[in-house]
Amino acid sequence: MLIDSHVNLHAPQFDEDRDEVISRAREAGVGLMVEISDRLSTFEATHGLAMAHEDIWCTVGVHPHEARHYTDLTADLLVGFSQRKKVVGIGECGLDFHYDLSPRDVQEAVFRQHVRAARASGLPLVVHTREADDVMAGVLAEEMVDGPFRFLMHCYTSGAQLAERTAEMGAWFSVSGIATFKAAEDVRSVIRDMPADRIIVETDCPYLAPVPHRGRRNEPAYVGHVLDKLAEIRGWSRKEAEARTTDAFFALFDRIPRPAGA
Ligand SMILES: [Zn+2]
Repeated sequence: MLIDSHVNLHAPQFDEDRDEVISRAREAGVGLMVEISDRLSTFEATHGLAMAHEDIWCTVGVHPHEARHYTDLTADLLVGFSQRKKVVGIGECGLDFHYDLSPRDVQEAVFRQHVRAARASGLPLVVHTREADDVMAGVLAEEMVDGPFRFLMHCYTSGAQLAERTAEMGAWFSVSGIATFKAAEDVRSVIRDMPADRIIVETDCPYLAPVPHRGRRNEPAYVGHVLDKLAEIRGWSRKEAEARTTDAFFALFDRIPRPAGA
């Protein structure tokens, strides 16, 4: 079974043909998708997709780009949403100092509320980080002192040092279509050193379509290309890559019951 651990199916890019996209994913062997919340104003759409489809689960959270609109967000509010059926993670959340669409102090404050919600709910945190390696490492290390929580460094493209520091804190990592891009040798070299039992795959659709679909709208049916690339980078067979990433996925997203035979 293939798993796409990060889809944005609520995005307007899928408004014309969302049902067809979901059907194509199933035909391609994708047995499970995690639909990611990026702001509370679209959470009902995200949650609705999970409620409507047996094989779709979801998260609740606010992306750093949107943090400026949620300066009063509390961990309690997130924990409240997380108790709904089919919510299996907190996020995506984090720090994005590349686009800086929200002030950095606001990004950090909103991120810390997500960390607290992950700790309180026991659900994994889906972390987005870009050009914020030192601050991200510092926040995670500080928060770990206050009490453990589990987290995923999603679509990981940051530095080797942050990968190493977070791996020591127990992080999971997800690999996206970026790993298939010709120029992404630095990304592949970090993937070579990730903990073998804590790597999963994602499309992050509609963004970041893997080769050979690069430049077009991405969709969950393409996640196999990411898995193939991961297998190649790690020297695993496709079957081994599938088994390893499936084990890692269910160890992280442990509110999702593992289907028989998966
Ligand atoms: Zn992200």
